[in-house]
Amino acid sequence: MSNRSIIYSLICCFGLVACSTERGSNNSRSDVQDAPYILVLGTIQDAGSPHIGCDKICCSDIPDKACRKVSSLAIVDPQSNHYWILDATPDFPAQNRMARNELSEGGLVPTGIFLTHAHIGHYTGLMYLGREAKGSQNVPVYAMPRMDSFLRSNGPWSQLVDLNNIELKRLKADSAVQLTPDIRVTPFLVPHRDEYSETVGFRIEGPNKSALFIPDINKWTSWERSINDEVHQVDLAFIDATFYSEGELPGRSMSEIPHPFVVETRQLFEHEPDSIKNRIQFIHLNHSNPLLYNDSVQNELKQAGYRMAKSGGRYPL
Ligand SMILES: [Zn+2]
Ligand SMILES: [Zn+2]
Ligand SMILES: [Zn+2]
Repeated sequence: MSNRSIIYSLICCFGLVACSTERGSNNSRSDVQDAPYILVLGTIQDAGSPHIGCDKICCSDIPDKACRKVSSLAIVDPQSNHYWILDATPDFPAQNRMARNELSEGGLVPTGIFLTHAHIGHYTGLMYLGREAKGSQNVPVYAMPRMDSFLRSNGPWSQLVDLNNIELKRLKADSAVQLTPDIRVTPFLVPHRDEYSETVGFRIEGPNKSALFIPDINKWTSWERSINDEVHQVDLAFIDATFYSEGELPGRSMSEIPHPFVVETRQLFEHEPDSIKNRIQFIHLNHSNPLLYNDSVQNELKQAGYRMAKSGGRYPL
């Protein structure tokens, strides 16, 4: 067994424990090794960490700098040797490497890229596919209609389209894209600051399990759907944990950048059993979020039954 296989098996085991739910599968490990999985490529808000101009404790002494990449997921399918990436972040080259290192064969770039919206942490990594960088050929980029128009009509993104570095494929809300016979991704609209594009979350379904990915959303109350109902319908939920609580950004009005505070999400799930709380994997943390640098806040969250998405973590689908 190679070192990588051993590491894979160990992490796979960990992944199974970490994601065990009341709907947990009875698969043997050999089934799981062949099964597709989600690989977490990053967990930080758009602007990353260390955050520009921040000399506070959150950014001045970071023990695990290497792990602080911007929020993104990969779907990896060892059987077909394909991988797809959800959101092209400013850390895209390193994250692309993380994903392709999972496979023994396969392409140098993703089989497809799915975009949630046009804020800097979610699409600007596309620039690395252009002439100054990879100069790729027709990488499928799945985007909603406004996002698609934004990329086609504004440089430098329009050059990626003109030079066929990327091939835009239009998403339709609530309409699934089949990646393989047993993996599919479905976008759904969520309320957010939609200056340049609409914003979507994704539902990812594999042969055994399913997951939600909602890195950015306004307050849960401004969404027509119930996050509790949505979490009940999946095995894992990678959801917006940009800010922990009110008052986190002294001198800035947090009403201009509304997100569900972690404490508000916890209130909504307060009376749910641990088997439901365990499905929540908080992601997209702002550099100011104490979950990133305060062990006691982090431990208290875990004791309450919730999880934080881990960069490099694998979650079988
Ligand atoms: Zn974001
Ligand atoms: Zn900071
Ligand atoms: Zn955003």
